Amino acid sequence: MIKLNSNEGKEPNFLDNTGYCAFSCCPAKYCFSSILGLRSTGPKPSLDYGTAVHCAMPFLQRGDLPGALIAFERSWSESRNEEDSKRNLSCATKMLAKWHNERFALQAIPYEIIEPPETGLTLTEAFSDQEFAFAIDLDAPFVFAGRCDAVGREKTAKGLALVEYKTTSELSGRFNASFDLNSQLIGYSTAISILLDEDVKIVYLEALRVTSANPDNLCIPKFVDKWLMNAFCHDFRNRALEIEKCFKSGEWTQRFCGCAPYAMFGSHGYQCDFAILCQSPDWRAMVGAFTVDYWEPFKELATPKEAKELLKDSQDD
Ligand code: SF4
Repeated sequence: MIKLNSNEGKEPNFLDNTGYCAFSCCPAKYCFSSILGLRSTGPKPSLDYGTAVHCAMPFLQRGDLPGALIAFERSWSESRNEEDSKRNLSCATKMLAKWHNERFALQAIPYEIIEPPETGLTLTEAFSDQEFAFAIDLDAPFVFAGRCDAVGREKTAKGLALVEYKTTSELSGRFNASFDLNSQLIGYSTAISILLDEDVKIVYLEALRVTSANPDNLCIPKFVDKWLMNAFCHDFRNRALEIEKCFKSGEWTQRFCGCAPYAMFGSHGYQCDFAILCQSPDWRAMVGAFTVDYWEPFKELATPKEAKELLKDSQDD
């Protein structure tokens, strides 16, 4: 059990998909990342590379390959590590050019991007003007906050479509199956359906393979039924209530099945970022290994009450 003093940590004012997953996996993990704002130090090339691709994609969607390359380089230059054999400017140029040549130039994009509505929310760190920011009241103690990469309309059936960009080293059946049931896709479909008062009919996963050899991309359709959205809302409420309870008591359970994938899925993989804290009899002695960086999705959210009031104002407008 991780026990905080009453003056320790920051009261949560929103719950995003990352926090929802972290708490569901292990309350202590959520406490370390969201309540104490602890972040691992050291470079994160795959994250930085993914961010740079997210900055480039809106230009590709408009057929502007030079603009995409400039946007990529601008974002990547802050953290670039050109010694990485598959995450570097040359590989990115090939990857983005392939998407442009095979998707935009051949008119092989099954949706048209639509403009995000005015929500009164300002992203603290916007990647593009196509992102849909949302803070939705799901009748829980905290708003469900997040940002979809883009929203579009199917060119044929005209249904509402969610568009999510993913970079991956493994463009495989296993990658595909990771999104059959996925809290991000279900949660974002729920949020956009509420925000636009129209059900999301399809999710297009725009997957780009990160490789030193031949880049590739796939547009993978996924479907989120209404009953899955209802199940998400139900669980989101319960998790938010549990977080509220943990915050008030200062007690955050360590759930050891979340420390590494082996316990849950019988196969190895990444270890929890906070493993060195939980391996120590005195976790406080080890926090110097982390930096403190509280991430806020929007500039306007200050307290749970203010977040809900802002949301009410924007819905009344
Ligand atoms: S190492 Fe395990 S117990 Fe500790 S925070 Fe991570 S998932 Fe929870």
